[in-house]
Amino acid sequence: MENRLRIKTILMEKPLGRELCVQGWLKSKRDSKGLSFLDLTDGSTLAGLQVIAPESLPNYATEITRLSTGCSVSARGTLVASPAKGQEVELQSSEITVYGWAPPETYPLQKKRHSFEFLRSIAHLRARTNSLGAVARVRSRLSWAIHLFFQQRGFFQVHTPIITTSDCEGAGEMFAVTALDLEKIPRAGGGAVDYSQDFFGRPASLTVSGQLEAEAYALALGNVYTFGPTFRAENSNTSRHLAEFWMLEPEMAFCDLEGDMNLAEELLKFLISDCLENRAEDMDLFSRFVDKDLLKRLDNVLRHDFVRISYSEAIRQLEKSGRSFTFPIAWGVDLQSEHERYLAETLFGRPVIVTDYPETIKPFYMRLNDDGKTVAAMDILFPGIGEIIGGSQREERLEQLLARMEAAHIPLENYQWYLDLRRYGTVPHAGFGLGFERIIQFVTGMGNIRDVIAFPRTPGSAILA
Ligand code: ATP
Ligand code: MN
Repeated sequence: MENRLRIKTILMEKPLGRELCVQGWLKSKRDSKGLSFLDLTDGSTLAGLQVIAPESLPNYATEITRLSTGCSVSARGTLVASPAKGQEVELQSSEITVYGWAPPETYPLQKKRHSFEFLRSIAHLRARTNSLGAVARVRSRLSWAIHLFFQQRGFFQVHTPIITTSDCEGAGEMFAVTALDLEKIPRAGGGAVDYSQDFFGRPASLTVSGQLEAEAYALALGNVYTFGPTFRAENSNTSRHLAEFWMLEPEMAFCDLEGDMNLAEELLKFLISDCLENRAEDMDLFSRFVDKDLLKRLDNVLRHDFVRISYSEAIRQLEKSGRSFTFPIAWGVDLQSEHERYLAETLFGRPVIVTDYPETIKPFYMRLNDDGKTVAAMDILFPGIGEIIGGSQREERLEQLLARMEAAHIPLENYQWYLDLRRYGTVPHAGFGLGFERIIQFVTGMGNIRDVIAFPRTPGSAILA
């Protein structure tokens, strides 16, 4: 189709007088004397293109008058300056072809505001709305910006496996992967499942993190990142948890906790400014219709250094806050979201990096500090979101690692490959995990994580697509 242009290009370049063809879906239609105004969108940008359909079109009476929200059309015509307010240019059409109808009696999207809850029930159609379309474009941009950030800095992307036989975080929250017939599970002596007959000859599951595998590649390529789907079978029905989410995990050789924090802070600021710059139109929509304080909040993050405090200091601050928390505060407890919110929202009002957690509440791979009680961990807490990043310097010393694995009852036979990384050419290294949907939530102001991923999977819900 010659002269076919996306609406984004047309609105940017405004090629007045040119004969063009556009294709898209009708946002709305208004009939006037002798003509109809069609508001056409093709997804390339938030704004629609106004198409003028004069009654002289051969299919005006038979088709154009019957068009409604959601119908798909192709329009050919000349781009002219618009005499009316509201748009600079419009397409004076000479030919309109209808591809598909969307009967208003049944088409669920009409020209009005629908609640996000309702839109969730039609996840296959919701990207056609202004807000969810904007989320999809911002998500795509953020994904690209992640690659930009790391590729510009010489990091290599590693595709770590989705099916895994090592458990990064501890048992209990993994989805099993099996080819066994669940109606006829083979049993070994004592009644235990005989995994030797399963596809991999051993238990396997969907990955909860690509970190351990990324470590192997960091210790070969220097700086790497893995970015992909991650699965947690935890029964968390919150606005910040999904059973299937995307996680970005950079891993750097010759890097300590300080370098890790610096990179994380730089990355988060880069992602926010990149979106403000490159998806300004969508960001404007969020700041007008989703969260009035959005731009102020983003600006606040960009303008200040993140607060950095140790876990012990955080505990002292929480103790002297005078608040009565549901989960009582004492050195050694894990920070709950009420504590995280107090720190990031009430006490500091900006992102906070909490470091050096007790080793008892953190995974085995985190490096033991010289005090013997804490590990070189860091969590980044964002106002309104809570934890957005969890990271650490990794334990690179074989003996210390073995001691922590034994204390945590990790089956060593599954981790010999991981221990090899310490046996052969070990180096200090560090990395972190960024929940991709949580940064999208922060950047867009969207309150529910289910609305920043195309087809959300949560406990009891994986219906569409
Ligand atoms: P939380 O305490 O919020 O449940 P976590 O400590 O279990 O998170 P990590 O294992 O540290 O999370 O994972 C790294 C990052 O991945 C987190 O900082 C968060 O941004 C994101 N994340 C973790 N679990 C989920 C989930 N179920 N859904 C979406 N994002 C998640
Ligand atoms: Mn964490």
